[in-house]
Amino acid sequence: MTDRQLLIGGEWVETGEWIDVRSPYDGDLVGRVAQAGGEETRRALDAAERAMREPLPAHERAAILDRVAAALADRQDDVARTICAEAGKPMKAAWVEASRAVSTYTMAAVEARKLAGDVVPMDASPAGAGKLGFTLRIPIGIVAAISPFNFPLNLVAHKIAPALAAGCAVVLKPASQTPLSALLLAELETEAGLPPGWLNVVCGPAAEIGDVLVEDERVKLITFTGSVPVGWKLRERAPRKRVNLELGNATPVIVAADADLDDAAARLAASAFSFAGQSCISVQRIYIEHGVYDAFLERFLPLVEELEVGDPADEDTDVGPLISESDRDRVRAWIQEALQQGAEVLAGGDLEGELLRPTVIANAPPDAKVSCEEVFGPVCTVTPFDSLDEAIALANGTRFGLQAGVFTRDVKTALRAARELEFGGVTVNEAPTFRADQMPYGGVKDSGNTREGPAYAVREMTEERVVVLQL
Ligand code: NAP
Repeated sequence: MTDRQLLIGGEWVETGEWIDVRSPYDGDLVGRVAQAGGEETRRALDAAERAMREPLPAHERAAILDRVAAALADRQDDVARTICAEAGKPMKAAWVEASRAVSTYTMAAVEARKLAGDVVPMDASPAGAGKLGFTLRIPIGIVAAISPFNFPLNLVAHKIAPALAAGCAVVLKPASQTPLSALLLAELETEAGLPPGWLNVVCGPAAEIGDVLVEDERVKLITFTGSVPVGWKLRERAPRKRVNLELGNATPVIVAADADLDDAAARLAASAFSFAGQSCISVQRIYIEHGVYDAFLERFLPLVEELEVGDPADEDTDVGPLISESDRDRVRAWIQEALQQGAEVLAGGDLEGELLRPTVIANAPPDAKVSCEEVFGPVCTVTPFDSLDEAIALANGTRFGLQAGVFTRDVKTALRAARELEFGGVTVNEAPTFRADQMPYGGVKDSGNTREGPAYAVREMTEERVVVLQL
């Protein structure tokens, strides 16, 4: 059991009130965190404002980021166990998340070192002749970061590491279900020599803390990863801030008749159910060309049945619990709804103990929730298609647009899908659940309005200032 305090202005702070963090697997108390409210959030903003009055040079910011990367690598096991305990993420996936956070910090350190403006070719127009022009990249100001439960370490890293690279102080509000990984990361940042006020962490009631972050004019950018309604509402409420949204998806993938079916089946069986489908790019809708529909399922279904369902702390487990009982019940209700609408369960659909088994559904109508909403559970649909036109239309037939994928050996099919799938990213011969941390990652349509990945986030977190010199 770990008790963790808030981090405000370099001090670890208690408030007298605590939030219990419980294992989603067995309900055991994993730890407690001090609970903040509006008052602590304002103090955190004061501390961030003070910190930014004394900018840190790029080489110091980069060195701190490198030291955090090294500390994460050293403590990977400890970090992974924290993720597993509070999020119920199987250890296999928790280790991957912990090692990805090392990459995120390493890439952010690179960005800190190369952050620079451009030279403007002033004499390219008559108006500019005789002048020298260049741009500076200025930190945008205080960044408010709000993160979700499902990647409690690496999605926090994707906010706080680029912010430091850009020279911005941060007030972070992690998800209430999973604040321990974020506070562990904050500890590593302070041990790495981050001066007081550059990172402040407040945990507590989302609406109360969110209101302060939205209303305080010192916050210049809100970076939010989470659900669609909360994200777009925040943006609506803060029209004068930059509000960067990384939201949900109902991830489609197309399997063409010429695909390597063994490879596609293996990759998709792993990526539809990892962390019980609670990834924003978990494979949810698989469209398979008619001629290979049965052949694909012959390969795919046994792999799904083989997935180990159980205790996330067990190193053999592939699929653990959903984050809460109410989420498990919601996903079960969506499965039932699809069945009532004529769908058929090909695998899973029921519980193993308290855990929902990986579930594959055929014949789900396009308007069933499992077909068009984000399930965020261990469920995928399989649907045959006749032509690439039809497959692309089906994949695009959603309000989401984060990532999509295609399996094919034909480069023309791959490039057509890449052009016509209306998503922020398209993977070819890889599940659309794939992400490397230096990639530009983000969505279109309801899925968001920005790209993360340190190089892209740093651009968002800085303003371009043009300097013109009369020669
Ligand atoms: P969520 O319920 O929207 O919560 C996300 C964060 O927002 C939490 O810290 C939450 O705090 C906070 N929050 C809730 N209401 C708020 C308000 N009124 N003002 C300010 N903050 C507020 O999402 P979730 O269930 O944790 O995460 C799942 C969602 O995230 C899925 O839709 C998933 O697709 C999406 N996601 C997207 C990406 C991406 O990169 N595109 C990555 C991962 C997840 P509390 O915890 O205290 O409620």
